[in-house]
This record gives sequence, structure tokens and C-alpha cells, in this order.
Amino acid sequence: MANYPELRLFIGGEWKSAPGRPVLNPADNSVLGTVPHATKADLDTALDAAERGFKIWSRTSPAGRAEVILKAVRLMRERVDAMAVAMTLEQGKPLAQARLEILRGCDIIEWDAQEGRRVYGRIIPSEPGMRHSVMRLPIGVVAAFSPWNFPMSSPARKVGGALSAGCSIILKASEETPAGAVQLAQAFADAGLPRGVLNLVFGEPAEISEYLIPKPSVRLVTFTGSVPVGKRLTALAGSCMKPVIMELGGHSPVFVCDDVDVAATAASSALAKSRNSGQVCVSPTRFFVEDAIYDRFTTALTEKAAAIKIGNGLDAGVEMGPLANERRVAAMETLVADAKAKGARVTTGGARLGNQGNFYPLTVLADMPDDAQAMREEPFGPLALVSRVRSLDEAIDKANSVPYGLAAYAFTNSARKSNELAQRVEVGNLSINHFVASIAETPFGGVKESGFGREGGTEGLACYTIVRNVSHLMT
Ligand code: NAD
Repeated sequence: MANYPELRLFIGGEWKSAPGRPVLNPADNSVLGTVPHATKADLDTALDAAERGFKIWSRTSPAGRAEVILKAVRLMRERVDAMAVAMTLEQGKPLAQARLEILRGCDIIEWDAQEGRRVYGRIIPSEPGMRHSVMRLPIGVVAAFSPWNFPMSSPARKVGGALSAGCSIILKASEETPAGAVQLAQAFADAGLPRGVLNLVFGEPAEISEYLIPKPSVRLVTFTGSVPVGKRLTALAGSCMKPVIMELGGHSPVFVCDDVDVAATAASSALAKSRNSGQVCVSPTRFFVEDAIYDRFTTALTEKAAAIKIGNGLDAGVEMGPLANERRVAAMETLVADAKAKGARVTTGGARLGNQGNFYPLTVLADMPDDAQAMREEPFGPLALVSRVRSLDEAIDKANSVPYGLAAYAFTNSARKSNELAQRVEVGNLSINHFVASIAETPFGGVKESGFGREGGTEGLACYTIVRNVSHLMT
């Protein structure tokens, strides 16, 4: 199909076609292409290539590595328009969001590449003649698994971190949204990355992870996706004593305090909730609103949510596209039915749109009962759940009552409340008075069942290294 790239495996510097399964456009369920499935022989070839790639890349100077990586970033920036169209076709998000995601992915890789030149060790003072040097060295071959909601920026986080630290990588990107990873690999190939440093495969996710993770040459596992799958992969990695970076689900609380500009907070909340149709691990979901402004906030949020323009992400002016797959529509239907049965009020949305594609509107559920399924289970879709709270204390207790701990947001002008939130909310990322959970420079990741390890920032880069202490008695 025009505007959609040919989907191939990239192993040891070679592109390879293979039979596989269709990739669907979520706006109309048309077939965009066929994602190739790797065989076990392909995975063995990728493992050999990644081992060879690691030897070359880990011995390349940080400046030399940065030069190649930054060239790939330049190429992706030049190709952003074509990449964005392919992303909207396969994932559904509006073109402007697809473009932003690609540029954000470029920014992440660029920062990692520059920071890769500063992965310094340290010298520890000791008795005369003895020197203790703490070195940070690339960990080795990385097995990476990225999901369908961010087809380019999630691979970018993993490839940027691994390559900038001097590692090689086997990336299994999403079979449902494979184009972003294919285009990313193409940019690195065109930039002159040595063969085997970056390998891209697709297939049956469980077969690939179960095959790759126990292989001795794989030294780190990084996964972005659901909590149940993350637990499975962590257990498997643990059985072989391998470290993991787990970016899992979230169920972000939003604390709306009674000292804020209600209309502005409601407007930015609706926009943030609509981003990627709510299929974002840091999507704002549980709105805990202080009593004094509860009714005004709910009305304003409802009006803004109802005005969000929904449609095919390629059409001008569309603010929210379809859900990425039929599973998400079914999940929204189940969660909304359960919430209504338990007493929630649907103030806008609440039912599938049309009969073609996976369209589901931005839905506001007010007076959310604490025992509704959606309050405990990550909706991963366009549901804004609004609850009335009588104090910040109550809101914090409710926010912390779920097993997730990824991102949280708060709107307040009170220094005391901000400090209270920063101290007590159990998350990896808290954003106050805005909805950006992380940037390239900052560590991103969760606590509790949302995972561990970090992506981004110096903390993220450190996950791709090992520490070696060399003590040298100079005779
Ligand atoms: P799922 O649990 O089947 O899959 C989640 C992701 O893991 C997918 O990308 C899938 O390809 C991959 N996967 C599944 N089994 C795997 C295995 N054994 N080895 C390696 N990878 C495997 O659910 P789904 O229907 O695809 O997605 C829905 C749920 O996943 C959501 O409820 C959300 O919680 C979570 N999710 C989270 C993120 C995130 O950014 N943290 C991204 C996508 C999905």
C-alpha cells in the first residue's frame, strides 16, 4: 500500500521478508500489509549477529557511537512526514500526534547519544599505591519488547538507551503497529550502524520472549506493556538471573484541588485524556476533585470532552482517532457497563461510535464508586473517572490504594499541598499543574506493580550498564 512501508525483519544488517499476519488500519479495518514472523533459525541468526555487533560497538568510542546515532536521528527528522502517515494508518492516532511522537522519539535518542559520552566512572581514594576505579561498561546484548501504543517512541527509548551505552539490541516490536520500528531500523541502517548492533524481529510474542530471554548472550530484558506480561517476563529473566527494565501499566490519579482555575484545568484534562485515545500508560484517569469545585469541574470537563473531534486521524482537525484494536473497544464497553451498574453517571460518551473501525468517544463517568472495576483496573482507553473527595488526605489514600504506581498529576497553587503530594503519592513521576509525565532528560518509570528500572535521564542510561570495580596495587 502507498504510504505504508514494506515490513521486513532486520537481522545482522540484512532485510528479510517472511510470511506472517496482516496489519489492520483501526479506522476501517482494511489490510495495510503483512508483518513477517521470525523463525527460531532467524532468532539464532539475530543472537549471533547481536553478539558480533556488541563486540564491535562496545569497542567503538562514545563519540564514534554518537556520530552514527545522531546521523540516524537526522534522517528520521527528515522523514517525519512519511513516518507520521504510516503511524496514523496502523495505530490510529491523529497525524499531528504521530508527528510529535516521532520528533519526541528523535529527541530521546539524541539526548541519550549525547549523554552516552558522559557515562563516567570514578576513582576512590585509598592507601598509597592502591587505586580503586569504578567503571561503567555496556551490559551486553539487550532483548527489547515494545508495545503497539507508541510504535516509534517506545522503540526509540530502548534503542536510544542500549546503543548510546554501547550495547547491541534485538528489538521485538509490536506486530500490530510494526512500521515505526521498521522505519527506525532503516534510519540506523542508512546512517551506517555496524551490522548486528540493531536487529528487529516480529512473531508470536510469547514464543520470541521465551526463546530469547534464557539465551546466555542476552544480558538485559526491557519490556513495555501490561502488568501480567511484565510479571511473566520478569519471572523468566529472574530464573536466569538477568536484570530487567519493566515499564508496565499505570492508573494515573489527577488531584484537582479547590484553589485552581476550574475551566482551564478541565480543558487541559480533556485534551490530555484524549491523547492517543487514552491508550497511554500515563493517561490521566482517576480525577479526585475537591468538594467545593466538584460540580463545576465535572460540567466543564464534560463540555470539553464532548467537543473533542473524533475521526480518521488522517483527516484535518481530528483530535482523537479510533482505538488501536477491537480488544480496547470491548474493554471500554465492559468497564462502562460495570461502572453504570454500580452507580456511576455517564455525562458524555459511553457507547461505541458507528459501525466501521474502532471508534469510541471520550467518556466522562462522574460519581465513580470506589468498587467499580475501572477504578482498580487500568482502562487503557478514553475513560475519565471523576470522584468527589472531601480532603487531600482522602484523595491520596484512594490514589495509593491500587497496585499501580506510574504517573500522577496534581493541580494546585498551594505549596503545602504540592509538598504533601510529592511526599506521599506512590508513583515514579508526579507532574504538578501540567500533563507532561517526562522528557528526554528525566527518568521515567514506575513503583509497585508499574515496574522498575527507568527509561530516560542518566538513571535510564545506567540500566544499560554494569558496574566493575578495578582495584590496582601499583607495585
Ligand atoms: P497484552 O497483555 O496481551 O499485551 C501487552 C503487550 O505485551 C503487547 O504489546 C504484546 O505484544 C506484548 N506481549 C504479550 N505477551 C507477550 C509475551 N509473552 N512476551 C513478550 N511480549 C508480549 O494486552 P494488549 O491487549 O495488547 O494490551 C492491553 C493492555 O496492555 C492494557 O490494558 C495496558 O495495561 C497494557 N499496555 C501497556 C502499555 C504501556 O505503555 N505500559 C502499552 C501497551 C499495552
